[in-house]
Amino acid sequence: MNAPLIDPFARTITYLRVSVTDRCDFRCVYCMSENMTFLPKKELLTLEELDRLCSTFVKLGVRKLRITGGEPLVRRGIMTFFQSMSRHLDSGALQELTLTTNGSQLEKYAKDLFAAGVRRVNISLDTLDEEKFARVTRWGRLPQVLRGIDAAQKAGLRVKINAVALKGFNEAELPDITRWCASRDIDLTWIEVMPMGEDIGDANRIGQFWSLKELRAEYEKHYTVSDLAERSGGPARYVRLEESGQKIGFITPLSHNFCESCNRVRITCTGEIYTCLGQEGSADLRSPLRASPEGSDLLENAIRAAIGDKPKGHDFDYSRQEVGGTMSRHMSHTGG
Ligand code: SAM
Ligand code: SF4
Repeated sequence: MNAPLIDPFARTITYLRVSVTDRCDFRCVYCMSENMTFLPKKELLTLEELDRLCSTFVKLGVRKLRITGGEPLVRRGIMTFFQSMSRHLDSGALQELTLTTNGSQLEKYAKDLFAAGVRRVNISLDTLDEEKFARVTRWGRLPQVLRGIDAAQKAGLRVKINAVALKGFNEAELPDITRWCASRDIDLTWIEVMPMGEDIGDANRIGQFWSLKELRAEYEKHYTVSDLAERSGGPARYVRLEESGQKIGFITPLSHNFCESCNRVRITCTGEIYTCLGQEGSADLRSPLRASPEGSDLLENAIRAAIGDKPKGHDFDYSRQEVGGTMSRHMSHTGG
């Protein structure tokens, strides 16, 4: 009886990304400032509220759920949330439960995540150099993350590395990172740095924009690169490196070419729904969630109304070598 979530541009919403906390144990320069003020706890959805919200989306046709943050694995009790969500995998309603993490807590949680039905995990890692890692994450330590990656693979989780492409920072490491991923059977995706937060261009000059076009040209110095037609329904495009057989992803959130197939919406840890990563517009789901007893239509109606307002696309624009459509919101707010 539940009609699927279809937006005004005939896109069916099947993918939900949920930020479960705005907190993090790192302070990556392109994501957070050094001195962050985090939300008071009472603003956050409780784990029970997150469960109810996610379960409502699953009821309305969401098939893929990605948990993110901040750092999702620093939220206290988060494993009970994963365990609880696994019932939707068991019933077949949900096809995939996954997360994006900085890897710092994986040594502790990889086994439990696998037991909860998680099969793939995206781990953010921009450099394999300890000193550079400490510089870009400010508070992170590389060995801890590498142990987390080991634990994830040992637990049976498929690992994908997401590396933010930063000119003059990890440019020269491209062959090393690529070979390292190949040697461990890890997928690799490069992300173009997005104009979020206040200081991506500063922060010790780490956060310089490195276009994926240039990055691709860098690959061509080392490999024969062929384009792959496959798309994931999201912003990633893929190429194959013929010599190693590796499939490399490129996420170019700044180009408009994926909006027409966008199947996703995002929820913040306070229960705001963002139907487009690149637009400021959001709607509050926490009030209807808190106001409605289980079984009432209030929450479902609020979700449908928000989907009914999903914009056609975003306004990021680097085409004239300047940042247009810049967002004041930090990535940690919507979870990327
Ligand atoms: N803490 C987790 C992590 O780092 O994977 C999940 C949240 S983090 C906000 C999600 C992703 O957003 C990470 O891969 C991170 O590198 C990316 N990210 C953060 N700020 C970004 C920016 N300004 N441009 C592009 N990617 C960004
Ligand atoms: Fe934390 Fe992830 Fe943002 Fe880095 S990118 S500060 S790990 S939320």
